[in-house]
Amino acid sequence: MTHTDFTTLTPAQPNDERSGDTSGVVLVVGDASSPVAREDLTAFASDVADRLQLPAKVAVGRDYDVKNFAGVVLADTWLDSVSSVVLGIEAQEADMCVIDADMLYAYSIDTRCGHCGEYDDAAPVLVGNTWTTSVCAPCAAEAARVAATRTVAVAA
Ligand SMILES: [Zn+2]
Repeated sequence: MTHTDFTTLTPAQPNDERSGDTSGVVLVVGDASSPVAREDLTAFASDVADRLQLPAKVAVGRDYDVKNFAGVVLADTWLDSVSSVVLGIEAQEADMCVIDADMLYAYSIDTRCGHCGEYDDAAPVLVGNTWTTSVCAPCAAEAARVAATRTVAVAA
């Protein structure tokens, strides 16, 4: 078993907004108006990635085209934040999958690694504002290595 092909697991890289490739990513919408609120929202997004087995991007602000995402998850309720109302309604009007926190917790946590397929206490990894699908520790280490390589490449 190798962990060298991590790139197939992470369509969710920080530059995804520019490349426009977020078709397999769920947008997590909620109150991100303060650092504490954003921390809570980011923690919730980890649950989203863990339970839906999809990369989950934390929406900071409302400047997102929801149609570029696989679906929208609302951190609390529709009326939890201005972002929830605006992006939630946009997604619904686009006939997209929109679920709220209650619905999310109907999904069970999957400890299977989304990369190598082993059941090994896999957990999502945060890359920029986006959580990957659940990955096991060896695959997460590989992800960090790949991310570091990309960061170096961008900086060069
Ligand atoms: Zn793995």
